[in-house]
Amino acid sequence: MYYSMILMTMKIRLLIAGTFFLIVGIGIGAYLIHTTQITSSIAQPSKIQIVAAESVWGSIASQIGGTEVRVISIVSDPNADPHEYEATTNDARAFASAKYVIVNGVGYDSWATTLLTAGKNPSQKVLTVGDLIGKKEGDNPHLWYSPAYVNAAAKQMEIDLIALDPAHKAVYEANYETLQHSLAEYQDRIVSIAHQYAGTKVASTEDVFAYLATAAGLDLVSPPAFTEAVAEGNDPPAQSVVEFQNQLKTKQVSVLVYNEQTITPLTEGMKKLAADEGIPVVGITETIQPANTSFQDWMNAELINLENALHAKSLGR
Ligand SMILES: [Zn+2]
Repeated sequence: MYYSMILMTMKIRLLIAGTFFLIVGIGIGAYLIHTTQITSSIAQPSKIQIVAAESVWGSIASQIGGTEVRVISIVSDPNADPHEYEATTNDARAFASAKYVIVNGVGYDSWATTLLTAGKNPSQKVLTVGDLIGKKEGDNPHLWYSPAYVNAAAKQMEIDLIALDPAHKAVYEANYETLQHSLAEYQDRIVSIAHQYAGTKVASTEDVFAYLATAAGLDLVSPPAFTEAVAEGNDPPAQSVVEFQNQLKTKQVSVLVYNEQTITPLTEGMKKLAADEGIPVVGITETIQPANTSFQDWMNAELINLENALHAKSLGR
């Protein structure tokens, strides 16, 4: 009897203790959920809202801004032609509310320039990369294929973010330095291609490759009238088509760089002709591919393909 009393008391105590811990547990859990929600609802608006017209610039901005920024990149689909992009009402809203807007300019994203003029926001900072490096409409707009322009844009983004948010100056400086080290990998690869293959004749179906060809010391001989027309969605002059076909048929070029985002029956014809003649074809895109990778990893992957094609050609394969 005595023991069973003790046992019962113990059971009750355990029950009380269990209930107590259960209640405390629920309380702590609820408190944690509550604080997490509060933290995130406070943290979100304090982040700098950045809108980049293209994911190439958005990727660089997000690496410099790190956890202090929230970046929306508008043109980010590697399977659509970026030259044909048309703004949506969501884009207009994002542009209007952003603290910092980054556009390419040089006529590449005239939809973005229109949005900026329409919803002028005096408290907003705008970086037009083309203006920064002194390019004007009619020039080759694929600025991110030039390592020098990329470095100039990244430096300006660091300066702009510090101006917008001086309290986190040290963070932006550290992130910028990390980015510079990371960009060096693909930029060193360009230098290495230049060392090995400078002067090698190459062709491209679109303007996208021109800045990179120059940086890598390659001799881009495909008719500019052809590549510019393809970029602008126009029909290339007949003479430029014949000239391009002859360059491939007579194997004047070591590699054909094929823009996978601006495909026309004519560019497909050039690709087929190159393949028939045993000229390596290297596919590149204008937009980061795959979309979730970083700018520099994408660049580096494209350069490895280019390097391999140049190497294969130099071995006579
Ligand atoms: Zn293009």
